[in-house]
Amino acid sequence: MNDEIPLVDLRTQYLSIKSEIDAAIDAVIAESAFIGTAANRFVNAFEAEFGAYVGRAHCIACANGTDALEILLAAAGVGVGDEVLVPALTWIATAEAVTSCRAKPVFVDILPGLYSMDPVDAAAKVTSRTKAIIPVHLYGMPARMDEILALAERRGLFVLEDCAQAHGASLRDQQVGTFGHAATFSFFPSKNLGAWGDAGAMTTNDPALARRARMIAQHGQGARKHDHQIEGRNSRMDGLQASLLSVKLKRLPQWTEMRRRIAQRFRARLGILGLPFQVGPEGALSAYHLFVTEVPRRAEVQASMSVVGVSTAVQYPTPLPLMEAYRHQGHRPEDFPVASKVTGGLLSLPLYPELSAKQESAVMTALAGALARVGGPST
Ligand SMILES: *Cc1c(COP(=O)(O)O)cnc(C)c1O
Repeated sequence: MNDEIPLVDLRTQYLSIKSEIDAAIDAVIAESAFIGTAANRFVNAFEAEFGAYVGRAHCIACANGTDALEILLAAAGVGVGDEVLVPALTWIATAEAVTSCRAKPVFVDILPGLYSMDPVDAAAKVTSRTKAIIPVHLYGMPARMDEILALAERRGLFVLEDCAQAHGASLRDQQVGTFGHAATFSFFPSKNLGAWGDAGAMTTNDPALARRARMIAQHGQGARKHDHQIEGRNSRMDGLQASLLSVKLKRLPQWTEMRRRIAQRFRARLGILGLPFQVGPEGALSAYHLFVTEVPRRAEVQASMSVVGVSTAVQYPTPLPLMEAYRHQGHRPEDFPVASKVTGGLLSLPLYPELSAKQESAVMTALAGALARVGGPST
């Protein structure tokens, strides 16, 4: 029996940079710089650093990745009567943000093996009401941006990249978040760049869009205090979160590289076991937020791995349009044949920079053992 191998190990990460994190937190406390107003130097510094990291001129910190999506859609003018294309397999936030803007999420099937938006199905679902498209770089793997951008160009759509799982992923050496008109990031604790609570960010090169997004996130306030030009909302990043995110951001390229090395070895082992793994477009480098495969008799595989202390998860068990929340759209599984088929077998394995060599091999041994028990991969 191994020690438990969790899906993500935030404590080990903290311990590896404890003195730096503690100093950053102390600095915020010393100044009582808790709230992300225009004057908060910790939030301003993180915005500048993260904007530079992504390679966009404007970065607006906000309360979480869900707000980031909703605020950018609103800033882009998405509203009542509009339709927005979203993939059938993603975290619900991607679609919720559309509904929060009182527009309609229109679900697009996914591609087998890539698990993100199928550009051909997306093109088929464009109507005269379609205003925007939200490609999600699912599990950290770049979506098919060439085709999605071509479609958006043809039909005049606003392209919002949901990079919540893909900090640092790239396509032909171009970072995700720099393909569309704007991008959103989440710093939920378990994301590749994680805060100690909720936090998010929006990035763009469009100054007018950035100005509107910042205004919405700060109660509709203009350049001067108490000058509310519109009704906005409250979506601020805390100073404490900003200061520790600045510390972690310096480590992110190295952590991403560590994820990639583990993933490379996992892929080789999965190949031997005859199991699939996510394959991106030509030139794609995943940030490996999640390492996902597909297995037969998943519940039994998970139970067998759990017995030897290896945690697994399913991201996600049901295509979004088939969930209760979207029942009113009246979809059936055959409307999303690929998403409906693959969700039955998806399995996320533990992969994070702190995973030791011993743990890494324990994960693969557990998977091989579980597969042998259920009778190996079948199609
Ligand atoms: C995590 C996530 C979000 C939402 O981010 P929060 O910070 O939790 O609000 C949005 N989209 C995707 C794909 C995510 O994984």
